[in-house]
Formats: sequence, C-alpha cells, structure tokens
Amino acid sequence: MADDLTQTLDHLRLGDRIMGALDRLKLKRVIDVLNHFPRGYNRRTTIGALKTGMTASVTGKVLNAATKAARRSRVKVTEVVLQDATGSIKAVFFNQPWIAGKLLPGLTVRVSGPVEYAYHAWTIKPTSFEINPAGQEPGLEPEYALTQGIESSELADLVSRLIHHADGIADPLPEKLAAGLRLMPVAEAYRQAHKPANDGALQAALLALKYREFFLLQAGLRLRRRSEAQDTGMLFHVDEDLRARALKYFPFEMTGAQKRVCAEIERDLSSPGRMHRLLQGDVGSGKTAVALYAALIALDNGYQAAFMAPTEVLARQHFRNLSEYLRKSKVRVDLLVGGMKKSDRDRLCDDLESGKTHIIVGTHALIEDYVKFRKLGLCVIDEQHKFGVNQRAALRAKGNRPHILAMSATPIPRTLSMTLYGALDVSIIDELPPGRSPVITEWVHRARQPACFERIRKELKDGGRAYFIYPLVNESDTLELKSAIEFAETLKNETFPEFRVGLVHGQMNAADKDKAMDMFRRGQLDILAATVVVEVGVDVPEANVMVIENAERFGLAQLHQLRGRVGRGKKQSWLFLFGDPHTEDAVKRLMVICKTTDGFKIAEEDLKMRGFGDFAGTRQSGLPKLHVGDFERDLGALERARQDAARWAAHIDEDRIRQCLELHYGRKYRLLDV
Ligand code: ADP
Ligand code: MG
Repeated sequence: MADDLTQTLDHLRLGDRIMGALDRLKLKRVIDVLNHFPRGYNRRTTIGALKTGMTASVTGKVLNAATKAARRSRVKVTEVVLQDATGSIKAVFFNQPWIAGKLLPGLTVRVSGPVEYAYHAWTIKPTSFEINPAGQEPGLEPEYALTQGIESSELADLVSRLIHHADGIADPLPEKLAAGLRLMPVAEAYRQAHKPANDGALQAALLALKYREFFLLQAGLRLRRRSEAQDTGMLFHVDEDLRARALKYFPFEMTGAQKRVCAEIERDLSSPGRMHRLLQGDVGSGKTAVALYAALIALDNGYQAAFMAPTEVLARQHFRNLSEYLRKSKVRVDLLVGGMKKSDRDRLCDDLESGKTHIIVGTHALIEDYVKFRKLGLCVIDEQHKFGVNQRAALRAKGNRPHILAMSATPIPRTLSMTLYGALDVSIIDELPPGRSPVITEWVHRARQPACFERIRKELKDGGRAYFIYPLVNESDTLELKSAIEFAETLKNETFPEFRVGLVHGQMNAADKDKAMDMFRRGQLDILAATVVVEVGVDVPEANVMVIENAERFGLAQLHQLRGRVGRGKKQSWLFLFGDPHTEDAVKRLMVICKTTDGFKIAEEDLKMRGFGDFAGTRQSGLPKLHVGDFERDLGALERARQDAARWAAHIDEDRIRQCLELHYGRKYRLLDV
C-alpha cells in the first residue's frame, strides 16, 4: 500500500504543462498530492442566495464583458456581468484584459472568489473561473493553492483520480485512542477535506487531520528524545572542586537565574543523553557567562568547545570577553572568521586539530570543511535563530554528536516553547545582573526633537555615549545608504558639532567597521551613527542613549534587541524613538516597546500581532512544514496532541510512527534541532 503512495506521478500521463506545474508545487508523489489540501472552500450557490463576505462559486451566462483603464492609474479593470435565474453579479478582474476576449456574451461561466454587496449590486473578485463547467449542485468547492500552469479544477480532478490511495495511509494513533476520540477515520478525512459533503463533514475532517498531524510530530519527537536519552557516550564528570575552580574565573557572583541554569546544564552534561538545550534571556542577561561555565566543564573533561556567532562583530566580542575571563588561566581561546590570511588560518586549524586550542570562537567559517577538531564536546550557538538547521547540524557534525547549547535573545513565548520543545530543554534567564536599571523609553514627536537633542547633549557632556540608529530597508541600496551617510553628516556638523561622531554601515569592510566600533567603545567617539549592524553584539557599558530614526520600520523583536545595547552600565539609560507610524500596527508596536522592557511580554505581543508565520524561532526550528495544522491558529490542538502523546506513550506503535513520518515528511523531517 505504502508503495502506491510513494510512487511518482509519471504513470498518470498528465502532460508537460501540468507536470511542470506540479513540480513547481513540489508535488512529486501520490502522497504529496493527497497532502496538498485546499487552502479554502468556495460555497457553490445561486446569485440570489449570496451573503456578503462569503467566498462563493456561482455559475451564470455572460451578459457583457468590457475592459477599461481605471482612472488615474495604470490598472486595467475588466468587468464581466453574469446572470442566473436568481439575479446578476459583476465579476471584476484586474490587469487581465485578455479575459474580456474569452468570457464572451452567451457563454456559461463559473466564477469563484470573495463576494461583496455594495451600491445595490453584487460583485465578485474571482480567484478562479471555468467556462462551461460540469454539474454545479450546491455544496463546497475546494480551492487549491496554485501556480502558473494549472487550474484549481485540474488539481481537484487529479485528487479525485488518486483519492482511493488514501485507504493505504496508516493511522499514527493507537487504536483505542482513535476510537475514544471518535475521530473521523484517516481515509474518510482525506476524502472529506478534498471534497466535502457538507460543512459538518468538513469540520470533522480537518479536526481529525490536524490532530493526527500534531500527534505524529509529538510522538516522533518523543521517540528521538528517548533514543538520545539512553546515549551514554559523552558523560561529563562534575564535582565540587571543578565547580569552585570554574566559578573563580568570573569577576562577579552569578545571579540566581544564572546559577539555576548552570545547575540545569550540569545535570544535562553529567547524565545519559546529549544536551540539547535552548537558553533564552534578554541581551545582557549573562548568557555568555553561563555558556563559558558549560565550556569549562567540557574542557575539564578533556573536550574542546566551539562558540559560533552569526556576525563577525559578535564573534570578535565573544572572543574578547572569553579571553578576558580566562586571562589568568591556561585555557587557550582562538578566533576564526572569514577572510583571514591563509597562513594564519592554517596555523589555527592545525592547533585546533591537535588539541592545542581549547575553545574556538567564530562565525559560519567554523563549519567550513577545513575546520577539524581533536575532540569537540560542546557547541555553543549564539543567536541560534540566525542560523539555518543545516548550519547548526554542520557544526555538530564536527564532533561525535557533541552537546549543544543554543542561545537566543529573541524569546519564544513560554506557552509556545513548552509545546514545541517540551519544558525540560528550555532554560530562561529572567533576571539582569545587579546594578542595571530599566531603560526609559520614549516615543518623541517631531516637534519635541530639539528638546530631546538638548537632553542627549546633557548626557554626552556627563560622560555618556549615544547610538543613533538609522534603519535601511536594504543595506545594499546605494540611495538609501546615501541618506544614512547624510544623516550622520547632519549629526556631526549641525546637531552635535561639539561632539565626535562616527558611522558604521553594512557596506563598510569588516576592518573599518571594527575600527569605528572600537573607537566608540574606547570613548574616542561620543556618538555612533549606525544602520542595523549593532543589532546583535557590541557591549559598551558607557553607552546610555539610543535614538532610533524611522522606528516604525522595525519589528518588536528588533526594537527590543536594539534597546538591549544600552542599559548595560550604572547610569540611567534612554531610548528615544523617532518616526511617523502610518499603520495601526506600527503605532501599537511603538506603544508596546514604550510600555514594557520584559522580553517575554514583548514576544507574546509580537506573536499576537504578526502571527506565527513570521516567527523567528520557529521558521528555523527544523520542524517540517505542516500539511493541515497551523502552529498559530491550532495551538489548542497542538497542546492536546502533546499531552495525549505523553499519556499514550506505552501504546504507541513505534514502527508505525516512523513509517508515517517517512511517508508524510520524508527527509524534511528533522526533529526539532533546537
Ligand atoms: P548576554 O550574552 O546574555 O548578552 P553576557 O554574558 O555577555 O550577556 O553579559 C553581559 C554583561 O554583563 C557582561 O559584561 C558580563 O560581564 C556582565 N555580567 C554577566 N553576568 C553578570 C553577573 N552575574 N553580575 C555582574 N555582571 C555580569
Ligand atoms: Mg550575547
């Protein structure tokens, strides 16, 4: 049966046009077509029975069709009037003038799309149409996500030809659980989702499919965790003596939150199973210090550690910080970034391979082929969401399944990370080191900018330093870059002539960037104007003012990360937001950022406003793309499936789960690489 499902579509003789389109939709096997569910359903009805806001499909005779250019724009609008026995409707097409030549008066045509009643008339904006359609009984008509070269009705036909294969799809649920939940059986759910008999059947089908999809993912996750949990290949020894020696390197006492996380990490490293932990905490909360503690445990056990960061600036900063912590130790820390001299690089790689280097810090360069470790025991991945699943896997492949500590300052909301990752493998630092006070954030109206500049002048005279962030939509756009440079010039010559102003932007080479940042860090510049390159990285405790121009262009997470660049020292810090938000969402974002400094609250708001699709942590979580479920809308079903997968663990047929995963997701199924 499963062979039928995984066979390709070649035997169907569909023709080049359709095969090409299916290829673009990544529908290669029978099961892929069955898992290509409609993105929506149109209600087939008569014009007289329409309700406004409905997505409908109506059939009528064409009365007339005409194209005209919309006033004051280059858009061409084609209007086609259709009539059935109950009324008439105007179908409006944009920039498809050829349609008027196709939908000729007298033809019978079906149009599908959202309908609206306005100015005493019905209009429809068709997402698809069909001339001389087959029988049109009332009911629900599937609408598929399409690509050029294939019509929705052609996909529906293809699904009809293949739907009998659904009888061969195994149910991942234990029989008793499926019976207890009274879920619609698998094959029936596939049939109803593609061609619903009525609303009730459709709802029941979607529920059954979603639940099974989530259950399968959760059961798969548990399987992998279990097999990893029995792995005793890399048990580290931790004792009181090691603990005391390691803590001596830190010139401060760890916060309560840091101590808690260190204990969690110790437990991971010294019990069977590889550590695969996600460490979340605001910028400056002391994640790096905790990561070094983990590295020291690895070193003491005879292993090496790697720190990978997404930018060179950040890698250099880690290198500097780690070197400073370890100044009085025999631990050797090295830095590897792109664009190094080959001779330097070769020497560095030799030392790494021979084990002379204990900790290597670097960028993506670490995953290049020429990098080899003697004995890699721990990978620390900073800003982990900036790396793809493959990059993270590539670093891990440099050792024999080393432990992983992934770090992120862009928190995934608690509810979500619990469900996706499980409560046990996420650590949170929710406490800042002592002596920091929250950054005061103000949204400054244009008219009040001069007053704001005065305030900044006072801070600068008082020994403070300021960032001016000027966001570019596109770092490689020369026009935009020019306006950023002009902005810096104005600051330097007009606004703050008495202070020293520097500029960093994305098109500068690394050395110049570093030089400017270094001058700012050392106090040779008072103001650093920057495009978003300071988003991650740079630690300048004296910087206590940040101004963000066009703040409305930033997302919440980004604004919050930027704010983390100030508030690192003893002085009160300020964030001033400039900008003219034109959308309600932009206004809301600025208000949220002014109201709270709690990263998790901000993440929850971000999730509410943007939805899950955009969400940094999940896009790259390694989860496969879902066929029916939606991580945002179906959080309830996801949570239930997670609980059920745990409760029914003893009854789960492991082979069947593996087969189902292979069938539905194939190689794409890389379980939660945190
Ligand atoms: P993160 O990696 O979360 O951004 P870091 O570990 O780089 O945070 O810490 C930020 C700054 O705070 C560093 O200068 C570090 O030396 C300092 N720091 C970290 N933990 C503490 C602590 N417990 N007490 C005082 N300072 C700390
Ligand atoms: Mg950091």
